Amino acid sequence: MGRVLIIGAGGVATVAAHKVAQNKDVFTEIKIASRTESKCKALAAILNEKYGTNVTTAQVDADSVEQLVALMTDYKPELVMNLALPYQDLTIMEACLQAGCNYLDTANYEPEFPSAEAYKDAVLPHHDDQPHFEYSWQWAYRERFEKAGLCAILGCGFDPGVTSIYTAYAAKHHFDEMHYLDIVDCNAGNHHKAFATNFNPEINLREITQEGLYWEDGKYVVTEPMAIHKPLNYPNVGPRESYLLHHEEIESLVINYPTLKRARFWMTFGEAYLKHLEVIQNIGMDRIDEVEYMAPDEDGVMRKVKIVPLQFLKAVLPNPQDLGENYEGETSIGCRIRGLRGGEEHTYYVYNNCSHQAAYEETGMQGVSYTTGVPAMIGAMMFMKGLWNMPGVHNVEEFDPDPFMEQLNIQGLPWHEIHDGDLEL
Ligand code: NDP
Repeated sequence: MGRVLIIGAGGVATVAAHKVAQNKDVFTEIKIASRTESKCKALAAILNEKYGTNVTTAQVDADSVEQLVALMTDYKPELVMNLALPYQDLTIMEACLQAGCNYLDTANYEPEFPSAEAYKDAVLPHHDDQPHFEYSWQWAYRERFEKAGLCAILGCGFDPGVTSIYTAYAAKHHFDEMHYLDIVDCNAGNHHKAFATNFNPEINLREITQEGLYWEDGKYVVTEPMAIHKPLNYPNVGPRESYLLHHEEIESLVINYPTLKRARFWMTFGEAYLKHLEVIQNIGMDRIDEVEYMAPDEDGVMRKVKIVPLQFLKAVLPNPQDLGENYEGETSIGCRIRGLRGGEEHTYYVYNNCSHQAAYEETGMQGVSYTTGVPAMIGAMMFMKGLWNMPGVHNVEEFDPDPFMEQLNIQGLPWHEIHDGDLEL
C-alpha cells in the first residue's frame, strides 16, 4: 500500500521496523535512515534475512532540514516515522512539509537546551533552566499541514499512544462522560543491572527528574518531583509503589475530553532505581548544561572540551537495546477511568501486560521498546490503510480507536478490561 521512511535505528525503531517488515502487504517499501548508517544496515540485514524484505538504508542528520528534504524528495515516502529523539520533531515536521510527506512520532518536542528564549512560547508550567516538553510547538504546525493536505500523527507509542487510544475507546464505548482518568505504568521487569533505563537514558532521566504535574478542576497542579506516591495493584504483578509524574498525553487528553475533572499519570520505580537516581542528581550527573573537561585531542594533546554531564552518563550506562536477553518479568500499562453512563457512576480499567522475554524473542529488544514500537507501526498501518488520514496535526485520540484496538490484539499487545472494579484511585 505504501512506502515508509523510518528515521532512527535505536530500540524503538528496531521493534517498529520488525513489525513493519512483518506487514509487507501494507508497507510495500521500507527505508531506515539514521545518524549512524551502520546501525541501519545491521538492522536491515536482519529484517531482510528474517522476513524476505528488501529494506534499504541511508545516513541522515535529522537536525538538518536540508538533509531530510533531500532524502525525502529522493525516496518519496508516503509516511515518515520519526523514531529518533524528541529534539528532532520540528526539523522532521518541517522537512515533511517541504517534501510533501505525512508524519508520525512517539514523543513530543523538547528543546535540547533549556532557555527563556527556547521556552518563550511555552504554555505549560516550567522553569527556564530545566528540561521541558509540551505539544504547543508541534500544534503550531496545524495550519501548514492542513493547507498542504498532509497528516501528522503525534504521540503514537504506548504512553503516549495506546493510553490515549484506550481513553478514546473508553469515551466511545463505555462512558457518556469521563470524570477521572489515571494512567498507570508499571515495569515489573528485572534486567539484572544495578541501574539502567529502558529507553534513551538522556530523554528518560530528563523526564522523570521534572516536577510532577497533573490536571484538576480546570487547571494544572505542580508538585515536587516524585512527591506523590502510593502502592497500586497491577494485574499479574501485585502491589508496586507508583509515583505521580508529568506525562505528555495528559496535555492533549484534557483538551480533547473536557469533562475530565482530574487526569494524572503514575509510574512505578524500584528502591534501587530511586537510590541511584538520587545519587546521580546529588553529584550533578543529571546536569544538561555544558561543563569544561580536559580530554586528549586526536594527537593526544590534552585540551579543554565541553561536555554535557547527562550525555556523558548516557555513554557509560547500559544501552537499553542490550537489556533484552536477561530481562525477566513484564510491563503492565493501562488507564483507570471513572465516569457516568446512563446516569450512573461506572469504573473501567483497560490494560496490557507485555513480557520482556517474549518481546526479546520476537525482535531482540526488551518490552519497553516493544510496547512503543508496535503501536508506532499500527499507527503507520492506520495511515497507510486510509483509516487515520486527516490533514492537520493530530494527537492519536482524535482518530477512530476501533481499528487500532483490533490491531493491538493481532500485533502482539492484547488488551484486557475490568468493568466496575476498585480503581484504588
Ligand atoms: P535510542 O536512543 O535507542 O534511539 C534513537 C535513535 O535516533 C538512534 O538510532 C540515534 O542515532 C537516532 N538519532 C538521534 N539523533 C539523531 C539525529 N540528529 N539524526 C538522525 N538520527 C538521530 O532511543 P529509543 O529508541 O529508546 O527512543 C526513541 C524515541 O521513542 C524517543 O523519542 C523516545 O522518547 C520515544 N519513546 C516513546 C515512548 C512512548 O511510549 N510513547 C516510550 C519510550 C520511548 P545513533 O544511533 O547515532 O545514536
